[in-house]
Amino acid sequence: MTNYADFHRRSVQERDAFWGEQAQLLHWHKPYEQVCDYSNPPFAKWFAGGQTNLCYNAVDRHVAERGEQNALIFVSTETNTEKAYSFAELQAEVQRMAAIYQSLGVKKGDRVLIYMPMIPEACFAMLAAVRIGAIHSVVFGGFASHSLASRIDDAQPTIVVSADAGMRGGKSVPYKHLLDEAISLATHKPSNVLMVNRGLAEYAKTEGRDVDYATLREQELNTVVPCEWVDATHPSYILYTSGTTGKPKGVQRDTAGYAVALAASMKHIYMGNPGETYFSTSDIGWVVGHSYIIYGPLINGMATIMYEGLPTRPDAGVWWSLVEKYKVTVMFSAPTAVRVLKKQDPEYLTKYDLSSLRGLFLAGEPLDEPTAKWIAEALGKPIVDNYWQTETGWPILAICNGVEPAPSKFGSPGKAVYGYDVKLIDETTAEEITEPGKKGVIAVEGPLPPGCLQTVWGDDQRYVKTYWSSIHNKVMYSTFDWGVKDEDGYFFILGRTDDVINVAGHRLGTREIEESISSHSNVAEVAVVGVADQLKGQVAVAFAVLKDVSKAATPELAKALEAEIMKVVDAQLGAVARPASVKFVTVLPKTRSGKLLRRAIQAVCEGRDPGDLTTMEDPAALQQVKDLAAR
Ligand code: ATP
Ligand code: MG
Repeated sequence: MTNYADFHRRSVQERDAFWGEQAQLLHWHKPYEQVCDYSNPPFAKWFAGGQTNLCYNAVDRHVAERGEQNALIFVSTETNTEKAYSFAELQAEVQRMAAIYQSLGVKKGDRVLIYMPMIPEACFAMLAAVRIGAIHSVVFGGFASHSLASRIDDAQPTIVVSADAGMRGGKSVPYKHLLDEAISLATHKPSNVLMVNRGLAEYAKTEGRDVDYATLREQELNTVVPCEWVDATHPSYILYTSGTTGKPKGVQRDTAGYAVALAASMKHIYMGNPGETYFSTSDIGWVVGHSYIIYGPLINGMATIMYEGLPTRPDAGVWWSLVEKYKVTVMFSAPTAVRVLKKQDPEYLTKYDLSSLRGLFLAGEPLDEPTAKWIAEALGKPIVDNYWQTETGWPILAICNGVEPAPSKFGSPGKAVYGYDVKLIDETTAEEITEPGKKGVIAVEGPLPPGCLQTVWGDDQRYVKTYWSSIHNKVMYSTFDWGVKDEDGYFFILGRTDDVINVAGHRLGTREIEESISSHSNVAEVAVVGVADQLKGQVAVAFAVLKDVSKAATPELAKALEAEIMKVVDAQLGAVARPASVKFVTVLPKTRSGKLLRRAIQAVCEGRDPGDLTTMEDPAALQQVKDLAAR
């Protein structure tokens, strides 16, 4: 058994030797000449000189050994469909899609924008793009025309792949009119729109531009499309960040570094083995979907479940029934989904045989202690919080149980992951903080390990300026998250650097105040923002969703509850952290990926324009905040 501290040290100090070993997990068409070319910081070229192909590593190379084994398991509780594709079948479907791309004139380096629901064709579409060296850009299906148009203009796709509709909660959600609107809004015009018609919604066709997938597929049933060997540094995809803090950034990913990082993470972090089943409940529109629905499991020779539907339909046991049925060994979800389940009967979690499951990984947002405890107890399995960003493509902080098993600590996503030279930086002095318990900005010493963003698509300057210039005098990657480390090397995330508020000279993380408020037994969810105040500089204002709304049904009750909550904060953090007011709402403004839109709440509270809201889930939620803030 390896000692994790040594493993991590080596990954940083003997970087090239370490990653050279991890690179053995891939198939190389041409061996690389240099593990990491960092001659032009902060731009890193991983495995320079080598050639490989992402689709080959995810699909083709497995066909000989496990061609008949499940690769993609599609489950839709919306259309009541369940269909499994073996590696051989997946290879055939991907070649058909790739042949269609070629017939539409898509060439190496061209962009293919994918705007689709969670259906197998979306997976084929991604793999087909990288197969021929094209660059995919998946746009989450829940986005409407404005968000889509801005991404079309940024990525400039040759074609768009889409579908008539998705389905949510038993209702069809038409896509095509939104796409048509987006294309008319955009300056860039794709030459073709490839439509998968599920027969869920009627749609208008544009002659000469829109083509039908099923028809074209028939013509390519037996077409062989070999994998295009591309340079290790050839871009594989563009993916936009969630837009929680502003205008989304187009993250550009390479080919080989990404594949090596994912393959290694399957071993050291997720501990999935070839032949097993991986189930990530995310969506292909997010980075977790890219890395751990599609590429990670498949590169590792695992079957992956692609799930269309709600976690609570037909009932809250549906995910666990899939764990039993497909003998899932690794599961990946988000705290927001667990909170949905938490409102349901915990019985649903134990109704099924979960003996195959080794653990549940959660990422994407802070995992609060009550939620973590609830799911750990209800499931009786290890829960592993892991912290990362669209930019990094895979975890920065986690417990690497595959290297050396270690306990999790509530509220902590774990230690610095191998490959990342993580440092806590003092915001004012830009010096490294080594003292345990002292707060700082989470930063990474360059080069970023394989798998992380190469640059911002089409904008090297924005890449340098956004990520590498905020810590003065140092070339260091900033995560823009704020954290603290304990004496054992476990990190705790305190919130985004934007979310730090300054009350009468005290710097407070909104996350800390939120944690404290959530410990009140009647609080289901809470958002805390800093609001400008003439006297104190800023004050904290809280918006809480209650479990039992009757406890705040009258102004008197609400006042009493507010006072109770303030007392909790006083007791836990001190009066300095006490929010100036606690307001009760039924829903909080979030992005479609389930993240709190604190910046929008803050702007509304300060009477400012909330800015880019294209990624917001429910506009009514912000309206509630606005109404309350005005009072
Ligand atoms: P944008 O960068 O466009 O503002 P975003 O940061 O929300 O959007 P993502 O890349 O989806 O886009 O999210 C990454 C962020 O999510 C991290 O920087 C961090 O703030 C938060 N996060 C992710 N995982 C965790 C975790 N395990 N614990 C706490 N926070 C997390
Ligand atoms: Mg971000």
